[in-house]
Amino acid sequence: MTGLVTRFAPSPTGYLHLGHAASAWHVWTLATRIGAQVLLRIEDIDTTRCRPHFTEAILEDLAWLGFEWTEPARRQSNHFPDYAATVSRLAERGLAYRCFRTRAEVLEEQGDALAFTGWSLPERVEQENLEKGMPFAWRLSLMAAQQTLGSVWNELSFKVVEAGQEVTRRARPDLCGDIVIARKDSPSAYHLAATHDDAVQGVTHVVRGRDLIDAPHIQTLLQALLGWSQPCYHHHDLVADTAGQRLSKTRRSVPLRQLRQDGVDPSSIWDRLGLI
Ligand code: GLU
Repeated sequence: MTGLVTRFAPSPTGYLHLGHAASAWHVWTLATRIGAQVLLRIEDIDTTRCRPHFTEAILEDLAWLGFEWTEPARRQSNHFPDYAATVSRLAERGLAYRCFRTRAEVLEEQGDALAFTGWSLPERVEQENLEKGMPFAWRLSLMAAQQTLGSVWNELSFKVVEAGQEVTRRARPDLCGDIVIARKDSPSAYHLAATHDDAVQGVTHVVRGRDLIDAPHIQTLLQALLGWSQPCYHHHDLVADTAGQRLSKTRRSVPLRQLRQDGVDPSSIWDRLGLI
């Protein structure tokens, strides 16, 4: 046992497609190379878009591709109280605030700035809003985080593999703004749940697509504020179709289960993706 741990963390908002297969391939290939165990994490916090039958399909499709993971798979929807407790910890330390603004108001306030930064409301106004039943999200306050961390703020950094080399990059959470850590319709948002789980699951290597290349900037800040360990990040290229467009569920790339039903040999998928 090397003690190294990586994970594959799909969101069950649709069927897995070829882009997911490529991502899974990168995760398991790294794991084999460095001798890490692979965990499977179902990121089903978005209760409006995730569906149990997509979760079942993920398990089946990954098994069809020949991937094995350490059981049991973690389902984030079973851990909402843990994320809520983390939000409370941050709020008690003045690091998170309730944001009652609508999306349009946030955009308007942000104006030409790179990212949104807000502030908490006076207690009386907040109380009135709560009494009126106004919906709110919890946001992480960059200003409070900077004050709390003091000189550490300027030293925030993370390890990332670029062109095969592990390098240290300075984290720039200021470019991400006051991110939402719990949403109006869900007890947690992506960054909080994923960073929490990477820490509690002892993940040492995060492998995911380049679409999340900026995520370590904010996840590093959460790790520093909460005393969580830091994995090393790897971002793989995204798979494009023949027209050079990125494959995604929204662009209706062929679901893996369709290929399975059509009798495609799973070992031919890697060839198709140019991965071997
Ligand atoms: N759940 C995310 C996705 O399906 C991946 C998040 C991660 O790997 O950190 O895109």
